[in-house]
Amino acid sequence: MADKPELTVNVVTPDGSIYEETTDMAICKTTQGELGILPNRLPLLASLAIDEIRVRQDNGEFDEVAVSGGFLEFSDNTLSIVASAAERKEDIDSKRAERARERAQERIEKAKKAHNPDELRRAEVSLRRALNRLSISNR
Ligand code: ATP
Repeated sequence: MADKPELTVNVVTPDGSIYEETTDMAICKTTQGELGILPNRLPLLASLAIDEIRVRQDNGEFDEVAVSGGFLEFSDNTLSIVASAAERKEDIDSKRAERARERAQERIEKAKKAHNPDELRRAEVSLRRALNRLSISNR
């Protein structure tokens, strides 16, 4: 019997490659919505939301990787995720993410009081990163 088709998922950040596995399916959240990626699909380039990448393992369970935005490129059965920051679920420090959440919420309150829209936007992005890490690590 022929081997079942697979794709390779590689998640790269400025710290280097943090995840590389083969799979028969990966699920990504792009800024346009959720996208399931199967082997042999057409090439694709998309921007990623602050969310997670899920990669199906042989036993049917999914590896989960938190991604703080970035891009994905799919071609020749290689899915490359290029992100400013990404962590495997098991590497997320939830206490650190909780502290980051509190800091971001304080910054949001201050930015609202100071009517500072740029700082408000930055703080809201920090909050989304922290909440994303917390929701993945607490699952
Ligand atoms: P913090 O304020 O805690 O640094 P942050 O959202 O500002 O959070 P980033 O700039 O997104 O952090 O990431 C900086 C580096 O720290 C990256 O390598 C990222 O993978 C890592 N990192 C950030 N938060 C966590 C966490 N809670 N657990 C594990 N690694 C983390």
